[in-house]
Amino acid sequence: TIISALRDNQIFDLIAREKRRQESGVELIASENFTSRQVMEAMGSVLTNKYAEGLPGKRYYGGCEIVDLSEQLAIDRLKKLFKVEWANVQPHSGAQANMAVFLACLTPGDTILGFDLSHGGHLSHGSPVNFSGKYFKPVFYGVEKETGIINLDKVEEIALREKPKLIVCGASAYSRDWDYKRFREIADKVGAVLLADIAHPAGLIAKGLLNDPVPHCHFVTSTTHKTLRGPRGGIIMMGKDFENPMGLKTPKGEIRMMSNVMDMAVFPGVQGGPLEHVIAAKAVSFFEALSDDYLDYAKQVKKNAQVMADAFKKRGYEIISGGTDNHLMLIDLRSKGLTGKFAENTLIQADITINKNMVPFDDKSPFVTSGMRVGTAAVTTRGMKEADMEKIVDLIDTVLMSNEDQKVIQKVKKDINHWMEDFPLYV
Ligand code: PLP
Repeated sequence: TIISALRDNQIFDLIAREKRRQESGVELIASENFTSRQVMEAMGSVLTNKYAEGLPGKRYYGGCEIVDLSEQLAIDRLKKLFKVEWANVQPHSGAQANMAVFLACLTPGDTILGFDLSHGGHLSHGSPVNFSGKYFKPVFYGVEKETGIINLDKVEEIALREKPKLIVCGASAYSRDWDYKRFREIADKVGAVLLADIAHPAGLIAKGLLNDPVPHCHFVTSTTHKTLRGPRGGIIMMGKDFENPMGLKTPKGEIRMMSNVMDMAVFPGVQGGPLEHVIAAKAVSFFEALSDDYLDYAKQVKKNAQVMADAFKKRGYEIISGGTDNHLMLIDLRSKGLTGKFAENTLIQADITINKNMVPFDDKSPFVTSGMRVGTAAVTTRGMKEADMEKIVDLIDTVLMSNEDQKVIQKVKKDINHWMEDFPLYV
């Protein structure tokens, strides 16, 4: 072979260590999951060698006959999974999917209305440190202090006052379902484009376990690596029967016209060549998500989250909004006298991975925070059920209430490492 036979032991040792870390701990980061072997196989394939700027059948490079087929499979499966009319599977990430929608629909300086980052929104919905907040004028809605729930009358009030060109619904740390119909009514009142970013609950939405944004939103973006359990990446989708939200003339049909605008916003708008190996892995994950097994998985994710929320409440933890409809929950640790930073740093010593998270109306900085976010997508993939959720919460409580007693923490860690052998990941 002309390729060097030298093995990069440094990197492969690190990968082996990371695999052991993933296998031996309890993974509760709400945005993470464990993909199947065949998803990783597609990602680690020769498709990574191929340049394929353009779209299936319309490429700027030769030799794309085969990646045309795999990308088309990804598109067709995604359309079937979410019952959408159009999809683009090329965005390298969720943030880039959002960026493409913004580029297609907005002019720099336009007002966008999104969910406040500190209440559970995402950086790419208007944060001042992100392109969305630098090139556009962001205004925000949030949750009510008393309920932890979004008040749609207030959203409407803000929309009427601020007249945004685009409204985003969707979040990174909101445990309740979304009323997309009402959001659309609000968007229509002010002539705004409505974008649902379903990065987190996508898998539950695909299987009909949460409200469906497709009939109501002009655009739906998502990541593929959270509840959807695919490779890291983004997607953009459009439903049907929509007027052209940008008022463009559409000689044949609005969807077709908007789809061209949107395809071009992805490439050449915000990206170069698509990652065909990742797109093939997306296709594999959509294939898996179309199965009945995945429906059982999604139902279990939701059940596990509800049991976990109840178990936390039983131990005196305060869940923002009082519970969960999806796969995650945000816990306010102030009633326990703890910070998010403390929880994250202490739990990791016992091989329990969570992330610190701002809670609505937080008085601490994003580096400290008053909350922690936990989710059940990853542990459910490992095969865990309701009783396991109770046990996880018990172990979390033991560690957090241990006054950092290393004897207690190390015992929990040992128990967890041993317990996780019952839930093999990649044997
Ligand atoms: N949108 C939401 C709601 C998210 O939670 C995330 C990631 O956490 C993203 C977008 C961004 O996805 P990515 O990290 O793939 O850019």
